[in-house]
Amino acid sequence: MSSKIFRSIWVAALTVLLLTLVLVFSMLYKYYDRTQQAQLTNEVHLASRGVTLNGEKYLKNLDTDNFRVTWIAADGKVKYDNKANPAKMSNHKNRKEVKEAMSKGFGASSRYSDTLSIKQLYAAERLPDGTVLRLSVNQTPIWMMLLGFAQPIAVVIILAILLSFWLASRLSKRIVAPINKLDLDNPMEYIDNEDFKELAPLLQRMNIQNGQIQKDKSELEKTSLIRQEFTANASHELKTPLHAISGYAELLENGIVRPEDVKPFAGKIRAESLRMTRLVDDIIDLSKLDEGGESMKWEEVDLYRIADNAMDSLQSAAQEADVQMSLEGESAWLHGIAQVLYGIVYNLCDNAIKYNHPGGYVHVNVRPSDKHVILTVTDNGIGIPLEDQERIFERFYRVDKSRSKEVGGTGLGLSIVKHAMMIHKATVKLDSTPGQGSAFTITFPEDPEAEK
Ligand code: ADP
Repeated sequence: MSSKIFRSIWVAALTVLLLTLVLVFSMLYKYYDRTQQAQLTNEVHLASRGVTLNGEKYLKNLDTDNFRVTWIAADGKVKYDNKANPAKMSNHKNRKEVKEAMSKGFGASSRYSDTLSIKQLYAAERLPDGTVLRLSVNQTPIWMMLLGFAQPIAVVIILAILLSFWLASRLSKRIVAPINKLDLDNPMEYIDNEDFKELAPLLQRMNIQNGQIQKDKSELEKTSLIRQEFTANASHELKTPLHAISGYAELLENGIVRPEDVKPFAGKIRAESLRMTRLVDDIIDLSKLDEGGESMKWEEVDLYRIADNAMDSLQSAAQEADVQMSLEGESAWLHGIAQVLYGIVYNLCDNAIKYNHPGGYVHVNVRPSDKHVILTVTDNGIGIPLEDQERIFERFYRVDKSRSKEVGGTGLGLSIVKHAMMIHKATVKLDSTPGQGSAFTITFPEDPEAEK
């Protein structure tokens, strides 16, 4: 970057220098032009007085190498010229300066001669006898003047190139040095510093981005911690049934078990493997939901029908637990993933049956309401203590571990519900009183994509 800055400064300095030279030169030339004209006017004035007093004699004695002197009669005929034969010269009556002098007493003009583009200045004055005296001088053209100055100009330009090179390299280093010293982690430290005034917008942006990076980092750390914890918990949960299974199998293998106990042992092995299957299924469901549902099929679905299906597959479990299930409400369409929504109703109803008393009930209600769909699952089961209500959506969190195990819980049901809700941008409200029952109310937006 520093070489780019250097080049820009250098080019800028040289451009300014050249422009200044051109400007100064053209001003000087204008000034030179004006003074020469003024001088010529003075000189024609003096010469006129000489001629008035002494006539042609005065002109002949004049040292006039630098000037051309022409004396013109009142009718325009040339009476005298120091550089040409007056007899051969044309009538000068119509020359601009002569014409002016004849009518006004004085006239001046300038013309370019055809060759070499040399400019000639003229000044003419009328004498008391009506004749006109004209002086003319050649003006050095600007390029000739420049040629005369070539040496000093070249020296100035070379000096300027060297000086601006040195200055540009110093300046670019000085501009870049503080930037290189910036502590990028704390850009706001420099915001009031005079040296960094121009960088203020950049520093502010950096600060915002640093904040964002910090946030992303801590979120990443949090998720990685949750993952680690989950992996540890999951392997622990999987090991328990495995240990039990291998324990029972060992006893059977060694023939220690009495024949009448073989059946209950086999039953225990089956129950433990079922628990493992459920656990593995829940883990698979959760990891699918972790992807955010992007690879799954989004469509318009009727939550009422989904609830009906989910309850259907829980019918036998409900019967076994002696719990009555009922569905109320009406068709309620929303944009979502059928399989994931099914998981929500299934897990909520499954819990409402599992944590219930024989003879209890589970009421499910699905209805549309103002661009939303509301699902309520109410039971008159054991209820959830207030202090646990916040935590039951955490992975592997159970209010009563032994009861959960007894009814075949994995501790993952409600975290599946939580993830499924997040994907659909739904919110949950829980009302529960221990000993009386629980009510989960979930509100889905009809179109999750419209939701912020
Ligand atoms: P689990 O597989 O143990 O049921 P969940 O994540 O589904 O795990 O639920 C977490 C805990 O919340 C359960 O262990 C239970 O203690 C409590 N819980 C969930 N739903 C209900 C309910 N309807 N009534 C009473 N307790 C409940």
